[in-house]
Amino acid sequence: MPSEIKAYTFLGHLYHPDCIIAEMTREDGEYDGWGLAPGVPYEPVEKQLDDIAYHFGIDREAHDIELFPLPVTVVMPWDTCEHCGELIGEED
Ligand SMILES: [Zn+2]
Repeated sequence: MPSEIKAYTFLGHLYHPDCIIAEMTREDGEYDGWGLAPGVPYEPVEKQLDDIAYHFGIDREAHDIELFPLPVTVVMPWDTCEHCGELIGEED
């Protein structure tokens, strides 16, 4: 599992890995309710995205997936999460 994912880019915005699934379920009816139903066990974000992609027949390796979150490994110190508004890049 990739350990260097700092954020996800989705529809032109950046999101915390912990925020991207919630954003997808709220923002886009296609994914409405996914992963938020009671009793759904927590899965790592990459696993959840793999599951969502599989469920909707989306090839995460394909080039035409701008409607699906893409992992980001480099963020700027001032980048903020569109979902929660907190800084993404603060470290050290
Ligand atoms: Zn966030």
